[in-house]
Amino acid sequence: MANVNRRLLLATRPSGMVDGATILMSDGPVPEPADGEALVRVRYLSIDPTIRTWMDDAPGYLPPIGIGEVIRGAGIGEVVASNSTNHSVGDLVFGMLGWQDFAIAGGGEPGLQVIPAGVEPTLALNLFGVNGMTAYFGLLDVGAMAEGDTVVVSGAAGATGSAVGQIARLSGAAKVVGLAGTDEKCRWIVDELGFDEAINYKSEPVAQRLHAACPRGIDLYFDNVGGEILDTCLAQIALRGRVVLCGAISTYNTEGKVAGPGNYRALIARRGRMEGFIILDYLSRFPEAQAAMFGWLAEGKLRQAEHIVHGLESAPDALNLLFTGGNTGKVIVAL
Ligand code: NDP
Repeated sequence: MANVNRRLLLATRPSGMVDGATILMSDGPVPEPADGEALVRVRYLSIDPTIRTWMDDAPGYLPPIGIGEVIRGAGIGEVVASNSTNHSVGDLVFGMLGWQDFAIAGGGEPGLQVIPAGVEPTLALNLFGVNGMTAYFGLLDVGAMAEGDTVVVSGAAGATGSAVGQIARLSGAAKVVGLAGTDEKCRWIVDELGFDEAINYKSEPVAQRLHAACPRGIDLYFDNVGGEILDTCLAQIALRGRVVLCGAISTYNTEGKVAGPGNYRALIARRGRMEGFIILDYLSRFPEAQAAMFGWLAEGKLRQAEHIVHGLESAPDALNLLFTGGNTGKVIVAL
């Protein structure tokens, strides 16, 4: 076993995207698990846009990462030593392992989940993990999607958005429209994932295209990006339409106050609602969604994509991919 624990530490708070000064690699000793703890060798890191928000010194649903602390992030690892009755050497586990080679788990922080034998780690991080769960509960629970709804989703070729569109299709949406940033992504979500229409928000007139695609208005807009796209969708919300505020990636690199949506008054006239959520609140219901996902996957009705990057040192660049749109599907760092 390696005798060095490489760790990526927050060196300075970024302004905009992370750069060479934001995160520094530091070598430390491999930690020893105390009584009740396990030592986990990190194998895969889940790269999530929210990690960028934790780097700001701003209030959020979790405290900011402190300067000098290991970058917080979820991942999958293998138990390599254990003083815990809950975990055996060889277990593959999911948890907040952080951007490092080795993590100690079991000392009181949210526990590790053992990944059942036969489940691919990349599936556990994607459709069976945070992104699939976010798509499922955001759409069906927060958004209360009903059969016959016209559903629009932004970030549609990403990990969450690609699942949202497919689940909407499988749940009886009348029409599913996705917004993505390249023609290739647009083709992928229509040809491979079964979206009805795709709009390239970088090269097409979004308002016009949405109007043509959703002539009765948008019943449910699943928002992954915020900003101008949110505002454009608000203007076209249908009577009793719902806006699910899942994420606002277009604003995560913005310093200072984020501009609000000017078209929010459409919700008054059309008796609509807009609601945010954090998937951590649904942890106890994950098995319900995982069972549904499992069924759809077994029937070949659900697909996922991964963008895998190799090496711990690549994690900062992998995070930036989410903001440049360099990914299709889930970004994962394999260590
Ligand atoms: P994705 O895999 O969707 O990657 C992010 C994508 O966002 C990029 O591929 C890019 O695609 C798009 N994007 C980046 N910048 C912009 C921009 N300025 N305008 C429009 N699109 C942009 O990431 P995730 O699936 O992990 O996350 C998607 C969203 O869901 C994020 O906002 C995230 O914070 C949120 N989220 C929320 C959770 C919750 O509990 N509420 C849980 C998990 C995720 P393109 O080429 O199309 O621009």
